[in-house]
Amino acid sequence: MKLILASGNKGKLREFEEILEPLGIEIVSQKDAGFDLDVDETGETFEENAWLKAAAICAASGLPAVADDSGLCVDALDGAPGVLSARFGGGKAWTDEQKYLYLLEKLEGVSDRSAKFVSCIACVFPNGDVLRSRGECPGRILEAPEGSGGFGYDPVFAPEGYEASFASLGQQVKNQISHRARALAAFRKELESYAHR
Ligand code: IMP
Repeated sequence: MKLILASGNKGKLREFEEILEPLGIEIVSQKDAGFDLDVDETGETFEENAWLKAAAICAASGLPAVADDSGLCVDALDGAPGVLSARFGGGKAWTDEQKYLYLLEKLEGVSDRSAKFVSCIACVFPNGDVLRSRGECPGRILEAPEGSGGFGYDPVFAPEGYEASFASLGQQVKNQISHRARALAAFRKELESYAHR
């Protein structure tokens, strides 16, 4: 099966490919498929935004499209940046590094560092069918960035059970335990039962 990934995020694309391609699911980025849309993420939840992105690319291409809407929810910030993770601080004009440094600044002197990453996946088919899944990864925000792997907030997030950040644990470990790995494992089951319906 071939799915178009409704995202321009290279980090997400790599993780989708690494996790789904061994299962025989081919992932094509929306750019490589010739659809350079920037869908407005007007939803209030990860679930809504994932559907908005997948539905827009499915409508434009006439092919099944999958999207992940994800973000980092920090307890001491009442769940922020959450659905606004990509638009935190200076928004799209800011680099990932500027965003995670801004987060560390906001948490200066804060002892409750607990946080979680959330990934919601929606897959939309041309007949309107939708498959959904969700994955979460609890952890904490470090005092300082570390590591050079991953993307986004990976240098400042240590998953539960580890001292090191996602960025220093490496992609293999991240692909086993991350929010996206969990959402994709659940999505795979949804897809299998959909295919046998
Ligand atoms: P969106 O799903 O396109 O709205 O963007 C999600 C944003 O959340 C990304 O731009 C990252 O900043 C952050 N994010 C989501 N997943 C991860 C991850 O696995 N590691 C680090 N940051 C992430």
